[in-house]
Amino acid sequence: MLKFTEQQELLRKVVRDFVESEIAPIAQKIDEEDTCPVELFKKMGDLGFNGVFVPEIYGGTGLGYTELAIIAEEIARYAAGFSMGLVAHTMAVYAIMTWGSEEQKQKYLPRLCSGSFGALSVTEPGGGSDFMGQKSTGRLVENDWVLNGRKCFITNSHCMEVNVVSVRTGEDSKGRPQLSVFIVEGDTPGQTPGRKEKKAGLRGSFTGDINLDNVRVPQDSLLGKPGDGAKIGLGTLGEMGRGGTASVALGILRGCLEESVKFAKERVIYAKPLSNLPNIQFIIAENRTDYEAARLLTYNATGLKDAGKPCFSEYAMAKFFATEAAVRAAKRTIDLMGGYGVITDYPVSRYLRDAVTMIPACGTSHVMQVIIAGGELKK
Ligand SMILES: Cc1cc2nc3c(=O)[nH]c(=O)nc-3n(C[C@H](O)[C@H](O)[C@H](O)COP(=O)(O)OP(=O)(O)OC[C@H]3O[C@@H](n4cnc5c(N)ncnc54)[C@H](O)[C@@H]3O)c2cc1C
Repeated sequence: MLKFTEQQELLRKVVRDFVESEIAPIAQKIDEEDTCPVELFKKMGDLGFNGVFVPEIYGGTGLGYTELAIIAEEIARYAAGFSMGLVAHTMAVYAIMTWGSEEQKQKYLPRLCSGSFGALSVTEPGGGSDFMGQKSTGRLVENDWVLNGRKCFITNSHCMEVNVVSVRTGEDSKGRPQLSVFIVEGDTPGQTPGRKEKKAGLRGSFTGDINLDNVRVPQDSLLGKPGDGAKIGLGTLGEMGRGGTASVALGILRGCLEESVKFAKERVIYAKPLSNLPNIQFIIAENRTDYEAARLLTYNATGLKDAGKPCFSEYAMAKFFATEAAVRAAKRTIDLMGGYGVITDYPVSRYLRDAVTMIPACGTSHVMQVIIAGGELKK
């Protein structure tokens, strides 16, 4: 049985109050204007949301990954795009918290917990799924590392102040690419945001290119050791990013469920509420079941992570199921509403755009299936 602690229930209430008063009223506007409400991120920092799983000595709230999922779900209930901005930020935070030196943690985590945006930059135009195929380079020149290349599809590209970026720094003894990860201050000369993508959904967060043109960073910007890039990048996506994206999809699923119930009760057809029709009830039942299943998978994975247990496959299952279920639920809810479903005064067509846009973020459904099957076949 899924059971939250009293403290977690209280946190959910605090986040929900914040979301209902500060985010829900502008959710449609930020989608229409395709912008990220960066000023709200500072407020979330003050409330302890942005570094909820970071120990208090580094400026965090000292809670866990389940609490992060609660926050991401609640924000995504109304604004999935903005929630995705928080999720991407937490990947940068997690990488520094997990692999950073004491100096790096003291230098970056308090800032990131209190309102500065972080970004994790791994994807390149050559293919996000081909993680080891990254072409951007890092070369040691005198005492500095010099980074060159182009990262694409980076969430928070146009608002980040700290970029955690992976590049190729050489080859191992078998000729395989060696990746390393660097922490790069947002205003470092040579690092510039490039094209900003016009996404179908998740429009409450910026997604775009980050260009690296002879970006010179000191040696103490290296996260972990040279060659730790695959461990850091894949570990962060697998045990942080996917929990976040599953939680965002959970928020969309709850939106579909609540909107379908509300509309079915309010809409009168044949002089009776729409909810009297059996096919409408089937849709509500499917929305409820998909939400519940996604919730169980997601909070099971975060519970394992909080307990320090293996959770890579569990996060992949949660991400795969929740994002695909959100697409199905949004389509069904549009069907339930008839013509009103496609009218943008209602949020459900946005839910469909948001849900579809979730699929590639942090790894496509195909890649999730490869990971899940790989885990089974290895047993
Ligand atoms: C909204 C959004 C936010 C994002 N945020 C970030 C971010 O913050 N940081 C970041 O670094 N990246 C980010 N990304 C990039 C994301 O991680 C990539 O889009 C994703 O990894 C897929 O890469 P690709 O788009 O290059 O597709 P490709 O890798 O080119 O995939 C093309 C097709 O091939 C399939 N495919 C690829 N490999 C396999 C395989 N091994 N087996 C079976 N099928 C396969 C895919 O499923 C897909 O259907 C974001 C993307 C989106 C859409």
